Amino acid sequence: MHTTDDPWQSRYATRTALMVPSEVRALFAVAARPEIISLAGGMPDVGALPTGVMADLVAALLTTHGKTALQYGTAQGDPSLRESICEVMSLEGVAADPDDVVVTVGSQQALDLVTRLFVDPGDTVVTEAPTYVTALAVFAAHQARVAQVEMDEEGVLPGALSETFARLAAQGRPAKLFYTIPTFHNPTGITMSARRRQEVLEVCRRARVLVLEDNPYGLLRYDGESLRPLRASAPDEVIYLGSFSKTLAPGLRVGWALAPPAVREKLVLAAESAMLSQSPLTQMTVDRYLRTQLWQAQLVETCTMYRSRRDAMLRALERYMPPGASWTVPQGGFFVWVSLPEPLDTKAMLDAAVAAGVAYVPGTGFYTGGRGRRELRLSFCYPTPEHVTEGVRRLAAVLQDAWEPLSAPHRIPVLSSR
Ligand code: PMP
Repeated sequence: MHTTDDPWQSRYATRTALMVPSEVRALFAVAARPEIISLAGGMPDVGALPTGVMADLVAALLTTHGKTALQYGTAQGDPSLRESICEVMSLEGVAADPDDVVVTVGSQQALDLVTRLFVDPGDTVVTEAPTYVTALAVFAAHQARVAQVEMDEEGVLPGALSETFARLAAQGRPAKLFYTIPTFHNPTGITMSARRRQEVLEVCRRARVLVLEDNPYGLLRYDGESLRPLRASAPDEVIYLGSFSKTLAPGLRVGWALAPPAVREKLVLAAESAMLSQSPLTQMTVDRYLRTQLWQAQLVETCTMYRSRRDAMLRALERYMPPGASWTVPQGGFFVWVSLPEPLDTKAMLDAAVAAGVAYVPGTGFYTGGRGRRELRLSFCYPTPEHVTEGVRRLAAVLQDAWEPLSAPHRIPVLSSR
């Protein structure tokens, strides 16, 4: 697309060879067409946010604190916001000192900065299989190798994790980081059980592998009991990433990293070289908003909205999916992960789904090495419950069409696994 006629092609750094467009992003343009129900993107629904209140906050801020809000800030982030962030983390049982927080441009930047601190080209990052697409992009951009470890319904498998760490150590390239999304995992929606959290921490501790815990969805719980993040039990062995993108608004681009003090010092240096400082105006706006009692009420409403969409999706899957399909039942977050029997191919099927008016994300983007053709990710966060239901109905019809020829031996399958 952009390589053949690029006069600078021979000048790019080696790492750019691994920077490829994400399958999820590529889908966004298609999914944005009005006739398509998108169960693809993980965009939060910001439609119900109190924008009037926010506008008043920004106006008041500019009037009373304009000189600070429009000036450069510190690389670590606004001190008052860092205090508020600690309050937010305490809702999930994480006790933290504002000194150990670094405010970033979304948690995505924190992910990039942490990778920059720990990963040299050729180093290995261990992740869950599957994992967040754009984390894989970050690791690729830093020329990391990625080793993925299987999950079950309780999260990553500790035995397999331990074996992976041992294998990598035996090869002389011990894992640098274990990247995990323990709560309402992207893309599977799975939440690591309490017992599994302790086992996983123990495995990482024994192998001396630093944990990178990504928790943008933790406060979006629709049922079940809240589980403390890994960071709560292992403050010295976990770097924790948080974000206001899903609980407030992604357009604000405010996320953070909570890190052990020595790591935090280096993170501040990395943040400084990446951006000098996050926007003081944005940080102060978020802080003021958090300090109104509105945020807590808005969060409850947000969870109610997403719960009804999740329920609509689960009901529709039960009702419409052909036998042989299975899916996860998330207690929160944005995603349901669907597995189909051989030889259905979710990547090959996408065009037919789009033609039928529904978009999803094929499983392959969430794995390294081309796996995931029988899997797909559905998100229920953006469409209304009615649209979620209709989207699943359309998808099930496409699956059914692909299925029938497969079960009839005399016909050539319209879809194959290749
Ligand atoms: N981690 C995970 C698991 C995500 O799903 C996302 C957003 N899709 C991010 C990090 C990045 O979010 P942000 O930069 O908006 O905070």
